[in-house]
Amino acid sequence: MEVRTRIAPSPTGDPHVGTAYQALFDWVWAKKNGGSFVLRIEDTDQARSTQHSEKAILDSLEWLGLNWDEGPGVGGPYGPYRQSERLHIYREHSGALLEKGAAYRCFCTKERLGSMRDSRRSGAGSGYDRLCRDIPAAESERRARAGEPFVIRMKAPLEGDCVFTDLLRGEIRKAWETVDDQVILKTDGFPTYHLAVVVDDHLMRISHIIRGEEWINSVPKHIHLFNAFGWEPPVFCHLPLLRNADHSKLSKRKNPTSITYFKQAGFLPEALLNYLGMMGWSMPGDEKFSREEMMRDFRLEDITLGGPVFDAAKLRWLNARYIREDYTPERLLPVLENWGLNRGHILDVLRISQTRLETLADWGALTSFFFSDSVPIDPALLDMKGCSAAEVQEVLQQAVWLIEGMYEISSQSMEEMFRDMSAKLGLKLRDLTRPFYVAISGSRASTPLFDSMALLGSDMCRMRLRRAIEVLGPVTAAAQEAAEVRFAALFGRAEPEGGETDTGT
Ligand code: GLU
Repeated sequence: MEVRTRIAPSPTGDPHVGTAYQALFDWVWAKKNGGSFVLRIEDTDQARSTQHSEKAILDSLEWLGLNWDEGPGVGGPYGPYRQSERLHIYREHSGALLEKGAAYRCFCTKERLGSMRDSRRSGAGSGYDRLCRDIPAAESERRARAGEPFVIRMKAPLEGDCVFTDLLRGEIRKAWETVDDQVILKTDGFPTYHLAVVVDDHLMRISHIIRGEEWINSVPKHIHLFNAFGWEPPVFCHLPLLRNADHSKLSKRKNPTSITYFKQAGFLPEALLNYLGMMGWSMPGDEKFSREEMMRDFRLEDITLGGPVFDAAKLRWLNARYIREDYTPERLLPVLENWGLNRGHILDVLRISQTRLETLADWGALTSFFFSDSVPIDPALLDMKGCSAAEVQEVLQQAVWLIEGMYEISSQSMEEMFRDMSAKLGLKLRDLTRPFYVAISGSRASTPLFDSMALLGSDMCRMRLRRAIEVLGPVTAAAQEAAEVRFAALFGRAEPEGGETDTGT
């Protein structure tokens, strides 16, 4: 059997190091076995998927050299490789499940599901109460034909155990009665993750599903679907989750997680890849190894489940080794130019700094923050008229969240954001932006804030704002929660939907 692995990112945010981590292991396993590595874009959550995010993910994988044999831009025999282009396939397959009695139409309204969830929250049990499960086929057909809106749910078995094997964990057993009748096709005709992933992994002939541990709870739902279709499931291998230093799941509040950030912060792709290869697997011998060396020695069963800690300091150390050991100055120069020391970028910086240069030599100090990762921040300069440090932290955090909701930032969008914040918070624009100059550039006397932020880009700005929050001291969980509530009230950002979300596990 040909080894075929896949990475199946959802384009709903920044390109995450966790995606690159999985992609590396999938890539190595496929290549080691002379097989194929497939990239599939899982964009069935239309409300959250964006082209911008998809492009950022593809660019990041390319930057890392994790080239795919089949997928967007490359094509392949089992395409299309974007789920939004495969809707007819999911519709057909959910229809087949209806006919077999392995799925059913559910006509419950949003209101009913909402009140069911509320009453369940206080009591036992979770998930759907299966009210529509036993509607006779003829009645279900009639109601659908009469135009009543419905979703399709899988009919999970009620008795016995679901048993499957994870390559790293061995046999896993879960009582079927604890498995929810998950929605597989939504009212708008889009599949949920669970249906699409099973149908695609089968049709794309995936032999090994190597992905993050967070999906392991979904496997019983997938097993039910594989069984219902009469298909053989692939081999499951769930990689350990990457963790923060405190062993919580890797999160952007505690660690940089966006690949775009690492690129901008001057990490070399080969060093980042090497570091990701050390997560849950160790190379016999030197910690510095190439992908080809990894391929030679790698075995899936040698992955350990200890919860690898993503340690940015260790990554820096490894990156330094690459710079020192693998490059002559002559070879490093073009890499540096490509990173940020090129005419185009320097000209962009010059455009917004020229009027502040008294001598040419002012260039260095004035613009160094454009060519840096973090900037040194004096906490005393992070003040805002009449506000406590905690209030400044909250305002910085609000900007982080607002920027997170934008795909790309421009000078104009930054100006609009700050004007909106200033109106809503009742702060003068000048007072509001004061600590932001310091957070972004390290100084109060720098180049214009909105232009500078646009040039630095969303990832780097958010990172610097987060660092400024840190410099001001720890934020308690209670303060964070209160800030989230105030943010939602002030800026009208809806809470993520509970319950019937696309990938609800
Ligand atoms: N679309 C899922 C994600 O964004 C893929 C999960 C899987 O690999 O099955 O991670």
